[in-house]
Amino acid sequence: MPDLSDRNKYEAAIVVLLLQAFAAFRAEGSLDKFQAAWARLQEAVAAAIAEVIPKVFEDAAAVLGAEHDAESDVSAQAAAYTATRSQESASRVVWTTAKSISTGTPPEEVLGKEKAEQIAATEVTAAISAGEAAIAGMLLVIANIQIVPTWHTERDKKVCQICAPLNGTGAEVYGRVSPSGPPAHPNCRCWLDYEVAS
Ligand SMILES: [Zn+2]
Repeated sequence: MPDLSDRNKYEAAIVVLLLQAFAAFRAEGSLDKFQAAWARLQEAVAAAIAEVIPKVFEDAAAVLGAEHDAESDVSAQAAAYTATRSQESASRVVWTTAKSISTGTPPEEVLGKEKAEQIAATEVTAAISAGEAAIAGMLLVIANIQIVPTWHTERDKKVCQICAPLNGTGAEVYGRVSPSGPPAHPNCRCWLDYEVAS
């Protein structure tokens, strides 16, 4: 589902939740509660991702499935993906935040709107890739249809040096940079286009 209006809606929903989590963390950062505050930040970031990401996964799967006449229930896979991914991403956020603060950047600068938008964009991109991969796997198993992905960048000014060369390439090329597909880096909004293998 590279449709931008859909992904923007999901990104916005995650941003709202993340900004609440960031504000709570900044409000409570007194030293005696420091450890607990970090733990709560991690939990809240994971919860923000877990709230929205299963829907993105399922939507992406449904769109790709419909294109190939396959109706499939991927809710169990979406839940499993989200459980792992939300924890991994939340601990990465805590780690990078702690690192920035330790080098002197104030918490309000690290945990602001830009960070929230970056996390949201990256997570939505990853969930789209994962949801589509789930459907691609199912099509192969249930219908013996092999669909193969091609990398697509947004092709605007924001496309970075990492992704620009991947545009139009297949897994044998982009896989060397980003084996599971987009995102190749934080803030990546690339997507995969699938076609039936000839
Ligand atoms: Zn990209």
